[in-house]
Amino acid sequence: MNDQQTRVADLKAAIAAFTRARGWEPFFSPKNLAMSIAIEAAELMEVFQWVDNAEARTLAGANPHRDRMADELADVMIYCLTLANALDLDVSTSIARKMEANGRKYPVEPPSPMTEQ
Ligand SMILES: [Mg+2]
Repeated sequence: MNDQQTRVADLKAAIAAFTRARGWEPFFSPKNLAMSIAIEAAELMEVFQWVDNAEARTLAGANPHRDRMADELADVMIYCLTLANALDLDVSTSIARKMEANGRKYPVEPPSPMTEQ
């Protein structure tokens, strides 16, 4: 399984099957899943606690931190896709709609003449 060969629908189906096999659906309310996303995001941030940006880039580039980041990012994304399943949301449609809105809010601006020296 890799990003080039895997569809979002495949990930959502695999996560739904994992959840269903363990009988976890009753615990996966939208509130609990939203909280779980934030908790896992905090675990991702913990990797960089107390270091500056330069050290964070160094940590992110090598193990054991790189593997821990990958694990915590996976936790975040699993909970995001679990919430999408619980809410019957098509995340590709949601992302496309939000990126369109972000593009309107933050239009690409031509380079300033002051920076073209
Ligand atoms: Mg975690």
